[in-house]
Amino acid sequence: MREFSTPAELITYRKEMTKSVGFVPTMGALHEGHISLIKQSVAENDKTIVSIFVNPTQFLEGEDLDSYPNKIAADLKICALAGVDAVFLPNIQAMYEKDELTITAPKIKGFILEGYNRPGHFDGVLQVVLKLLNITSPTRAYFGKKDAQQLFMIQNMVKHLFLDVQIIPCEIVRESDGLALSSRNVYLSEKERLRALKLSKALKLATKMVMTQQFKCSDITLAMQEVLEDTKIEYVEIVDREFNHIEEVEIKNTIILVATFVGTTRLIDNIWI
Ligand code: AMP
Repeated sequence: MREFSTPAELITYRKEMTKSVGFVPTMGALHEGHISLIKQSVAENDKTIVSIFVNPTQFLEGEDLDSYPNKIAADLKICALAGVDAVFLPNIQAMYEKDELTITAPKIKGFILEGYNRPGHFDGVLQVVLKLLNITSPTRAYFGKKDAQQLFMIQNMVKHLFLDVQIIPCEIVRESDGLALSSRNVYLSEKERLRALKLSKALKLATKMVMTQQFKCSDITLAMQEVLEDTKIEYVEIVDREFNHIEEVEIKNTIILVATFVGTTRLIDNIWI
């Protein structure tokens, strides 16, 4: 497995490759969720590149940029075992100039839900993902449905900027008790981890309601809020797969999303119906 720390080195490596390339961008502290993306890429492409970069421009003032979990040695072992061909580990200086153009997420869909609660977050995500896609020129790039709105923003960027890459959405990986895997789960105390199960419980309840023909979104979100009552809810929302607000669940075109704080840890989860 090759390791690169500058864009120039990776661009040269990529140029020598004529075969299909899968790309998996991550912020490290890899878990089974990341590994499932990597495995899918390895299965579907001749070569797989993984990036590990904690991107400062997508963190807001006061968020966990400085304390974000760092497990580089373990991450490299995981990548090697999973069959990754190259890992990109740039530092901030290698990725950003002091004064450079910025990207702004779409004014409407980029400023709801995650975009509303974390203003500027998607601008930073899109900026770094565009840089990474330019550096790696992948045939396919893999993103988790766990970050559903991020996935949608990236799919839109690819469409709006006519980027030549296939975006592959990947299923959410959960612990056996339902908790969606996240690098931030390590912040949870034992008690908080139990409370964190409320997210997947609320989503399960929503699924059950839909299965019993209860399609009214306001009824579903109300029932979910009751499940989540001892967490600090940021939003419980039901949208169609283009992130339009809807009144009634549309089967095969709906995403139910939740964002909540458990203690000081912000957790998100969702289900596609
Ligand atoms: P991150 O390192 O948190 O930026 O995540 C890197 C990629 O892994 C993103 O595309 C995430 O959506 C995806 N991801 C994170 N957690 C999960 C999970 N539990 N299941 C599937 N994909 C995930």
